[in-house]
Amino acid sequence: MPVSSKRDYYEVLGISREASPEQIKKAWREAALKHHPDRNKENKKASEEKFKEAAEAYEVLSDERKRQMYDQYGHEGMRNHGEGVHDFHHMDLREIFDMFGLGDMFGGRSNGRYQEDYGQDLQTEIEVTLEEVATGVEKELIFSREEICDRCNGSGVEPGTKTDRCATCGGYGQVEQTSGFGFFVSRVVTACPKCRGTGKIISTPCKECKSRGRVSKKRHLTVNIPAGMQDGQVLRVRGEGEPGAKGHRGDLHCLVRVKPHPFLIRHGNDLVMDLPISFTQAAMGCTIEVPTLGKKKVSLDIPNGTQPGDFIRLKNMGLPDLRSKKHGDLIVRTQVEIPKKLSDQQRKLLEQFAETEKNNKDVMPSTCGFWDKIKQYFSAQTNSKS
Ligand SMILES: [Zn+2]
Ligand SMILES: [Zn+2]
Repeated sequence: MPVSSKRDYYEVLGISREASPEQIKKAWREAALKHHPDRNKENKKASEEKFKEAAEAYEVLSDERKRQMYDQYGHEGMRNHGEGVHDFHHMDLREIFDMFGLGDMFGGRSNGRYQEDYGQDLQTEIEVTLEEVATGVEKELIFSREEICDRCNGSGVEPGTKTDRCATCGGYGQVEQTSGFGFFVSRVVTACPKCRGTGKIISTPCKECKSRGRVSKKRHLTVNIPAGMQDGQVLRVRGEGEPGAKGHRGDLHCLVRVKPHPFLIRHGNDLVMDLPISFTQAAMGCTIEVPTLGKKKVSLDIPNGTQPGDFIRLKNMGLPDLRSKKHGDLIVRTQVEIPKKLSDQQRKLLEQFAETEKNNKDVMPSTCGFWDKIKQYFSAQTNSKS
């Protein structure tokens, strides 16, 4: 079984397993500053990887449920228990800055995207088959999200009626507030909370949206799922979430679930197939047509003397890697089946065969070797007693 090469999240952030949410946040900020690629110009690639590693650790440890799941089951368990984690290595830095609202932390490098301008992100789930993982697939998604109300054009005001000036902001739509998180505290101008930046108070709400300016609608969207996605990974589709105060939409996060396959088990990019063979096939060797992903068949030579659990590796017949697109292998693991019932004729034949295998080291090396060891073990004990 492949061992996860991922580092422990607590180790990544340099904190103890008992760290409080504040300590986790602090450690992430320190890591984000330390490994920020703009601060490590001569070592950009390595620091970018470190930065992404820290981002992933923070995503999990800052979420109580995900953290609990991670503590209990580790990296693999997170996937198996349906906890989505973003594939940060596949995201560009700007996306990560946006996700954590780091745009202004680094002097507005992230295309000036401020979180309050943007709407809520939405979550959804996509189920794909292993065959679709192999090739990549386009999926039609249908989900509910808010759209600007047609009746009032998003104003929330019933057409033909008037609005009053907002008393809180005096009609300017903006108020000055103190804000910031950790690094700097600054005074910023934000949308007035009373009138939500419009400067107006609605006296007659729109009949369609009840002054919300939005209505919930079904959205149809085609999402391209790249080949090699792992179960539990999250695909981020920019600008497909809820609309924000200024119309910018948040993102849609698609949790990718890979359906179990009827006869293949996935281990990273490798596929494992348990192939049952009869004990005569194992003993004498044979050629078998085995199915592979996508209903193709390959001819497989099982050598004579094959043991239960032996592996045969078919190079490059596994799944493509998400990033490098290099293929993993198909690993065929033999399961030797012992007859459960014997006809009289079979029994006679096997009795004859059994006569030839008795104490024959060439035929049964493990069995003979085992009893030799037992014999030695008992004789050594008897000797030491006497
Ligand atoms: Zn409306
Ligand atoms: Zn106002």
